[in-house]
Amino acid sequence: MDINKIRADFPILSQQIYNRPLVYLDNAASTQKPRQVIDAIVKYYEHDNCNIHRGVHYLSVKATEAYEEARREVRQFINAKSTCEIIFTKGATESLNLVASSFGKQYVKAGDEVITSIMEHHSNFVPWQQMCLERGATLRVAGINPQGELDLDELKGMLNGKTRLVALTHVSNVLGTINPVKEIIALAHLHGIPVLIDGAQGVSHLPVDVQEMDCDFYCFSGHKMYAPMGAGVLYGKEKFLEEMPPYQMGGEMIKDVYLDHTTFNELPFKFEAGTPNVGGVMGLHAAILYLNGLGMENIAAYEDQLLKYATEKLSAINDIRFFGTSRHKASLVSFLIGNIHPYDTGMIIDKMGIAVRTGHHCAMPLMDYLKIPGTVRASFAFYNTFEEVDQLVAAIGKAREMLS
Ligand code: PMP
Repeated sequence: MDINKIRADFPILSQQIYNRPLVYLDNAASTQKPRQVIDAIVKYYEHDNCNIHRGVHYLSVKATEAYEEARREVRQFINAKSTCEIIFTKGATESLNLVASSFGKQYVKAGDEVITSIMEHHSNFVPWQQMCLERGATLRVAGINPQGELDLDELKGMLNGKTRLVALTHVSNVLGTINPVKEIIALAHLHGIPVLIDGAQGVSHLPVDVQEMDCDFYCFSGHKMYAPMGAGVLYGKEKFLEEMPPYQMGGEMIKDVYLDHTTFNELPFKFEAGTPNVGGVMGLHAAILYLNGLGMENIAAYEDQLLKYATEKLSAINDIRFFGTSRHKASLVSFLIGNIHPYDTGMIIDKMGIAVRTGHHCAMPLMDYLKIPGTVRASFAFYNTFEEVDQLVAAIGKAREMLS
């Protein structure tokens, strides 16, 4: 990994803020975009822009072909069996809402149960909670141990004949914990229960092979993997997607429309109503090529070094409390310093040029469980450096002095 060369691909990283070099450590919220992704979007709008699937003319055919080529690239990236299992969405949130709504209608009835965990982002919690409330089903929530790892025994004990789905995050956006999803999926499948994995924090840090994992659904957002906002993916096994009803109605998702009824298009188009974000998908395609160029294994290994270095250096700060100390962790650290409110820490180090996220990180049930108002979260990408970690540690030390 030639970090200087990599950083040169990301124009935003070379700027100064408050007369200091920007240190961007908010990658779990959204990653920055390399020139290759920005160029792909510009190229699309300068040369190829057109609505897809419906036209016979040159530009429409060209844009359609590029969109379907991107779908083939996504299929390969996560090793799905077929492109009909790759549905383009706005992002992880829309993918999760699609499954909650459509899967819920098809398979969940009063008295049934859905299992999730206390470490979920609201996007993988509220849709299930609301779907269960609507359908008279029960949402069961597995807890965590003091290291911030899923309580597997509790989760195992929840699997029963009434369970219709397990919905779990691959990687926690607060704790960094990498869940043993393959083991959990195998266990749930023994009971014939399908499993959805929220991959919003997984796909940018780890190689993902949905066939090997054997998940039934996998959701992610382009903008957390160096692609633009507004383009994401739902992977689903064909047998479920075939049986599930459409999520939104409109153009493209239909086969034939009559006055009194409608027949629906084949997969994946049945779930892609309306004009999609073609430019965004062009960016997603370019981002995957960029990630493949670096190699997901190399990215994971480098980010792991950054994580270990940051954890070690931050540990030397007095009164620091980490949230999430699993041995299987993605590259983020969540912490509090003494009784200092996380917002205060975040505001002070912002003025030193350092961008971290503070607050509940869209995980209020987890904050209640931990009995804290929020955390400071620094999340690392492959373009971050050890020097930036040093700058973070020095800034946190200064903020502590100023605030305690
Ligand atoms: N799940 C997790 C674990 C996340 O971290 C996020 C974003 N913070 C989401 C889902 C939702 O992603 P988006 O807002 O891009 O739809």
